Amino acid sequence: QVFGYRDFAQQAKWDKVFMAVPDAALAGQHLKTLTAAPHWASSPEDYATAVYVADKFKAAGLETQIIPYKVLLTKPVKIVIEAFDADGKKLMSGPTPEHVDPNKFGGDPFQDDPRILPAFNGSSPSGDVTAEVIYANYGTLADFQQLAKLGISVKGKIVLVRYGENFRGIKTYIAQQYGAVGVLIYSDPADDGYFRGDIYPRGPYRPETAVQRGSIQFLPIYPGDPTTPGVASTPDLPDSKRIPIDKLQNNQPTIPTNPLSYHDAAPILKALGGAESPRDWQGALPFTYHLGATGTLGAGGNLGAGGTHSTPPKITVHMHLEQDVALRTIWDVTGTIDGTDPAQKEDWVVAGNHRDAWVYGAVDPNSGTAAMLETVHGLGELLKQGWKPQRRIVICSWDAEEEGLIGSTEWAEQHETHLAHAVAYFNTDVGVAGPNFDAAAVPSLKQFVREVTKEVASPKGGTVYEQWKADQATAPTRRSRKPIESTDSDVHIGTLGSGSDYTPFIQHLGVPSTDIGSEGPYGVYHSVFDNYNWFTKFADPTFVYEQQQARVFGLEILHMADADVLPYDYQLYGKEIVGYLEAAQKQATTKNLTLDFTAAQAAASRFAAAGAAIRAAQSAPPSNPAALNQSLREAEGALLNPEGLPKRSWYKHTIYAPGEFTGYAAVVIPGVNEGIDAPDAPRAQSQLAALAAALNRSAAILESANKEAAK
Ligand code: GLU
Ligand code: CA
Ligand code: ZN
Ligand code: ZN
Repeated sequence: QVFGYRDFAQQAKWDKVFMAVPDAALAGQHLKTLTAAPHWASSPEDYATAVYVADKFKAAGLETQIIPYKVLLTKPVKIVIEAFDADGKKLMSGPTPEHVDPNKFGGDPFQDDPRILPAFNGSSPSGDVTAEVIYANYGTLADFQQLAKLGISVKGKIVLVRYGENFRGIKTYIAQQYGAVGVLIYSDPADDGYFRGDIYPRGPYRPETAVQRGSIQFLPIYPGDPTTPGVASTPDLPDSKRIPIDKLQNNQPTIPTNPLSYHDAAPILKALGGAESPRDWQGALPFTYHLGATGTLGAGGNLGAGGTHSTPPKITVHMHLEQDVALRTIWDVTGTIDGTDPAQKEDWVVAGNHRDAWVYGAVDPNSGTAAMLETVHGLGELLKQGWKPQRRIVICSWDAEEEGLIGSTEWAEQHETHLAHAVAYFNTDVGVAGPNFDAAAVPSLKQFVREVTKEVASPKGGTVYEQWKADQATAPTRRSRKPIESTDSDVHIGTLGSGSDYTPFIQHLGVPSTDIGSEGPYGVYHSVFDNYNWFTKFADPTFVYEQQQARVFGLEILHMADADVLPYDYQLYGKEIVGYLEAAQKQATTKNLTLDFTAAQAAASRFAAAGAAIRAAQSAPPSNPAALNQSLREAEGALLNPEGLPKRSWYKHTIYAPGEFTGYAAVVIPGVNEGIDAPDAPRAQSQLAALAAALNRSAAILESANKEAAK
């Protein structure tokens, strides 16, 4: 029995019809077509993929639209990175093109396409700087604080950091605040290269010249087109409604930033003098990492086990970036199926995946697109057999996600009024990178996701759910990598932070969201080598995980579109929030902050109690559940604070946000926790009040729905 249905037997029949359709070989064909050429957002090849997707939507019987937006995108014109020693001798000159030996392990058939853009960081400004270099590990706040403690200043320097830990834009965000003049971000083999396993094309890990491109937009401030926070960048939007480019400074990177392969970073890192780096800052390159300055340790200072160093040899790096920053056209594609229930057909079920890629994007994002097209294929078959959903289904293929969730954010901003009562947003991005299913979700949908995975068979045998549970016992996957205080005893489901298109839905508009995909050893992220050749060798050679993904994604949509009672679990939601507050209170004590948690805790308990009670009403639904459903949906909306978070008012959700200093990882009850971390007691206290108000609003909605149900 699946929660939320009066007659699940009927739905189970439709589920069965649907599940038979998604086809592994067809998914493979979609993937091959979508990834035939580099299709960076706004390029002609990107438009061709929009047309391909639109054709498949139409063929399945969906009402289809290609929707253009005009948004600010950075395109590299010229990228020069060079390093010199004290005598002016050149140590390196790059960036080196991404290339593997064509004669070993089959080489790579995609690496020589002239349409490949040089590796760059989206949103990096142009700049021409020459400066000494400081190594700052992952470039987290803690890393910069540690350098400062050692008396090493990055002021006027170029900071060399490695990928990992936080969202790359945060590295620049912090470096900029500390006065650095440039940032180089490289992929260390310790993190996704030979230290992990064989490199491409022999194995799945990052080869020597491969570069991780990526946006450095200040995602935790606001995503989307930088010139229109809160407003949709429709083609006819007058320039007067946009923030002029020269007024964007506060919320955008101002120092040039570029990614590097370890091939190009190694000569710089190797030549750095100064103190030995802390031992846990050492990556897997075959020499001892130094910081580039001695700081208060003085000449000969080291933090390791006895190395000695004199004054740092002077090495300088020259970065010259010329970027063409311009308003460009991007294209979302939407396909809709109308709902039949007069009271609820306007309560949309939205599902999406981005389509644009840094280069070929076989895994990121088109493994998700290929699966989504097979989901749509299945929905088309249902339509042919006479099925109609109760609620309207909107399937979306987003553009320019890579630049900063732009296509999804602009669409969400455009449809804000409707989305205020959309019942769910289901995201997938990296749909298939390997065989390990994983998910993140708002707590109200965790049990829902588990139930869906119990219905789908795994290529490994048993169900997706069973395999997921088994995987978790051994290797935690990315989406659930950072288990925060969680009260579930079942399969652990991660918390939605950011870095993909669910952000505008859950964190700006309060649409209950999930993010699903299947993971594996994926070392070629955002490089030329994330292509069809890599995919068929290392991710899913027979596309059976594509098929699995299409089925899970499709069942999420079907179950939500047709549920008599919305299956949100406010009991678990309440428990989790109570747990978040307990953890925050402990943290405040550790930080010696005197805060009054009484009102927030009372509100959380009230919300949890109302959430537990409404479970009963949901299990015995009234004959007309429209009013109950409306309350259930409004309870999530009430968790938004219209004023938004301090410093970043676009983010309205009081329970979840990407961390200001993490970007990818969520910070729960963000106003409160970031106030504590700052530390800023008055801010934390006023955020506790805002949280209490939101929880009380939401609890009141659930309580009156409970009263109504008891009549
Ligand atoms: N998935 C993209 C990344 O991680 C998102 C970029 C962004 O949100 O700015 O690079
Ligand atoms: Ca906008
Ligand atoms: Zn992606
Ligand atoms: Zn990406």
